[in-house]
Amino acid sequence: MKTYRIAAIPGDGIGKEVIPAGQEVLEVLASTTDRFRFEFETFGWGGDWYREHGEMMPADGLDALRGKDAILFGSAGDPHIPDHITLWGLRLKICQGFDQYANVRPTRVLPGIDAPLKRCGPGDLDWVIVRENSEGEYAGVGGRVHQGHPIEAATDVSLMTRVGVERIMRFAFKLAQSRPRKLLTVVTKSNAQRHAMVMWDEVALQVSKDFPDVTWGKELVDAATARMVNRPASLDTIVATNLHADILSDLAAALAGSLGIAPTGNIDPERRYPSMFEPIHGSAFDIMGQGLANPVGTFWSAVMLLEHLGEAEAARRLMAAVEAVTANPALHTGDLGGQARTVDVTAAVCAQLRQHG
Ligand code: ATP
Ligand code: MG
Repeated sequence: MKTYRIAAIPGDGIGKEVIPAGQEVLEVLASTTDRFRFEFETFGWGGDWYREHGEMMPADGLDALRGKDAILFGSAGDPHIPDHITLWGLRLKICQGFDQYANVRPTRVLPGIDAPLKRCGPGDLDWVIVRENSEGEYAGVGGRVHQGHPIEAATDVSLMTRVGVERIMRFAFKLAQSRPRKLLTVVTKSNAQRHAMVMWDEVALQVSKDFPDVTWGKELVDAATARMVNRPASLDTIVATNLHADILSDLAAALAGSLGIAPTGNIDPERRYPSMFEPIHGSAFDIMGQGLANPVGTFWSAVMLLEHLGEAEAARRLMAAVEAVTANPALHTGDLGGQARTVDVTAAVCAQLRQHG
């Protein structure tokens, strides 16, 4: 029997509620198989840690995570701490420290969810967005001069390396190839951004030669937003830059029905370091501590974690349990227009797992 060592980082706000819920369903899942077990270690990093220690995580925090098989992350964000500290001090530190250069966001309308696109039938919205997660517009390159003077100026430079673009493109083509439709849309803005985005297009063409069975096309990011709404079924796998994919994936999550359902994986495809899985929602301080958070985004993230570990059958079973639960409106939390609580949804998923174990 295999033992998977998982780091759990609840972080802030509702992260402290959904991560224990995620841990619970994974433990129940493990109890129904003799293939593997989990060894969880929880790290109390985030806003509270910052108030006590002046940093979001210890300086040697990455070392504590290095030997893990995967990381399950909640959210980092605190209304009393500036965003750049909560963001850069924890989540991005892990993403960058472990070179998790591929951010993967599956989007699908789950059974029972009332999604806003009325023209969209079942199965019409089934996407995976691949976001470049290590450079581009969020590379942190730039500067600000003459602050407070009339000539004040600032830049944010989008830094794209050929190596960086090539590796994300290769990852996206491979992912597209692994899905039934083998269809990839490369999103750019190369009509207006004429240097890095043109290189992005060139690399796409070059990498595509290694994947002759993948059908691919280019789309400008503005047109891509309209297409997601008007012709969702024309898309499958989508690859875009750090900023573009950030925006597209929030749109995707909204189109799928709720921020509370959507998962993401920050992946090191080379497996040099642990990859990190998390719901895409933030800390949601407005509902924290009340047991109202929807844990489905975390459960789906746990499905991605299992897939990453190579436990495809367990991943499939957990996803089936989650879908059986979302199909029942009595088990919808407030974000989905229901009355259910975090514990109700969690208990129902666990019951499904035991029943179909
Ligand atoms: P952060 O600053 O960390 O991004 P936030 O307060 O902006 O956090 P988000 O998570 O981005 O919160 O979500 C916006 C709103 O959507 C929340 O205030 C909350 O009301 C709702 N929401 C988000 N996630 C969930 C969830 N899992 N369950 C229920 N409601 C949610
Ligand atoms: Mg937010």
